[in-house]
Amino acid sequence: MLDMVQNANVIDQGAFFACKVTEVEHFTDDLFRFRTARPASLRFRPGEFVMIGLQEERKPVLRAYSVASPSWDEELEFYSIKVKGGALTSRLRHIQPGDRVLVGRKPTGTLVTDALKPGKRLYMLSTGTGAAPFASLIREPDTYERFEEVVFTHTCRTAPELAYSQGLVQALGEDPLVGELAASRLVYFDSVTRQQGSRTGRITHLIETGALFDHIDRPALNPETDRAMICGSMAMLNELKTMLKARGFEEGSNAKPGDFVVEKAFAGDGI
Ligand SMILES: Cc1cc2nc3c(=O)[nH]c(=O)nc-3n(C[C@H](O)[C@H](O)[C@H](O)COP(=O)(O)OP(=O)(O)OC[C@H]3O[C@@H](n4cnc5c(N)ncnc54)[C@H](O)[C@@H]3O)c2cc1C
Repeated sequence: MLDMVQNANVIDQGAFFACKVTEVEHFTDDLFRFRTARPASLRFRPGEFVMIGLQEERKPVLRAYSVASPSWDEELEFYSIKVKGGALTSRLRHIQPGDRVLVGRKPTGTLVTDALKPGKRLYMLSTGTGAAPFASLIREPDTYERFEEVVFTHTCRTAPELAYSQGLVQALGEDPLVGELAASRLVYFDSVTRQQGSRTGRITHLIETGALFDHIDRPALNPETDRAMICGSMAMLNELKTMLKARGFEEGSNAKPGDFVVEKAFAGDGI
């Protein structure tokens, strides 16, 4: 009720807020981002996800989505896949400014800096829409207060799929809040798996061979100084978990902070 009075762009529906879409940008046939009005009472920690969806005739269709905007943003941002025949995204892909998207009241998740022990360098390793939680974290001053250096990697099949992360990192230079910090402390590394180029290969391969560290001119992963957050397909998470554990990293959680944390970018095998 309070939210409705404060902001007609958000309607409090009890279990969900119905938030007005303010902006939509399509990158490829499979990827887009959109922004919505933000409920005044919705708080989240950068890196968390929330249930979002659309109202269908009988009941809402809801799916988990990482919040891609930072916690200080007046609006919410989401970065989305378009699954052909997908229960949610076959409709969500057509949203326009002025439409309403349902947003849940309880953001949650393990991809938060609270679940990590202090460290010098934070690696954010993502594939596909797994870049979404890091879109929030790289725009958050607290991330740079906790870590001297942030290495954000994004791997996709083809170059056009990197447009979202590339655009974000470029725009960070103009960001009044974190622009200066990011300029000196954020290292961005993108790579593709299905096109030839100097930065070709799965991130697991680039870590294993050391090519990643050669490219960014940093030492190989070390649990004494480095922390990691991982978001991607189940296969990517499992492979990276095994690699990190073999290097002496321990997995963390909200209850017990550790050296790395993981979150699925989606359930299933991926498109
Ligand atoms: C913790 C968590 C956070 C998530 N955050 C995001 C996010 O920020 N952005 C986002 O687009 N999706 C995210 N997802 C996936 C999302 O919940 C939905 O699966 C997606 O929106 C597709 O919904 P759908 O109903 O159209 O198809 P679904 O029936 O949900 O999915 C159909 C199939 O499409 C594939 N698929 C689904 N999502 C993806 C994806 N993101 N990338 C590649 N293949 C996929 C899978 O094979 C899946 O089995 C997240 C999932 C989880 C568990």
